[in-house]
Amino acid sequence: MRWWSSLFPVRPSCWFCDQSIEQLFFASAWSKVCKECTVNLSPIHPPICEICFRPLDDDMNVCGDCLQISHRDRVQNVSAVSYTSKTKKVLARFKYLGDEGYAKYIGTIMCDTVEKHYSPIPFTLITSVPLHQNRIKERGFNQSQLLAEQIGKSLGLPAPSLLERIKASPPQANLGRNARIQSLRDCFGIQPDKMQLDFTSQTILLVDDVYTTGTTIRECAKILRHAGAQTVYAVTFAR
Ligand SMILES: [Zn+2]
Ligand SMILES: [Zn+2]
Repeated sequence: MRWWSSLFPVRPSCWFCDQSIEQLFFASAWSKVCKECTVNLSPIHPPICEICFRPLDDDMNVCGDCLQISHRDRVQNVSAVSYTSKTKKVLARFKYLGDEGYAKYIGTIMCDTVEKHYSPIPFTLITSVPLHQNRIKERGFNQSQLLAEQIGKSLGLPAPSLLERIKASPPQANLGRNARIQSLRDCFGIQPDKMQLDFTSQTILLVDDVYTTGTTIRECAKILRHAGAQTVYAVTFAR
């Protein structure tokens, strides 16, 4: 037993299970997650595609999918973890069971990823991929906006919700690549009460929970760039 255990007898437990962990002061976000959950969430490490963060096993810098996207439309993304079965369970608990406490944990881990990979970028604000009003009514919150707010709090930046989803779209998971691109076209817009914002002075970090093909991120970034935003980067929890 370490000497400090007697001073702090209650051992904290892992953010994503009940296992107790030994926690050091000023430790990183990942020190709050037990070894088993860390392995199961599978944090993403290089080599990765420098645009979309896909793990690569050759020495290419950009993956085949990103090579097909024009430079103008590309949006750089960083992700914290792989989309494993443990990641799916954590996100399901966060999204569908309304466990908003998870926003703090997931957001803190995403913030760690932002600081590691985007540290010299002078972001001015954080915003999120919007949900359609009907979905917000069903769920009670937009999970990506909760994550954006958590990241904003950690970085000391405003995290307003700027975008809205004008058209409801079918669940993306069931669609092929082309159908997905079609279904998201003209889906997003700037919220009417945010039109007055001076977008030209903004370097924006766009937040979403999962990165699948990147179509959603690119469509949202397109709207923000059309509104005048200088640069848009993305961070997602999983990919
Ligand atoms: Zn755990
Ligand atoms: Zn890529």
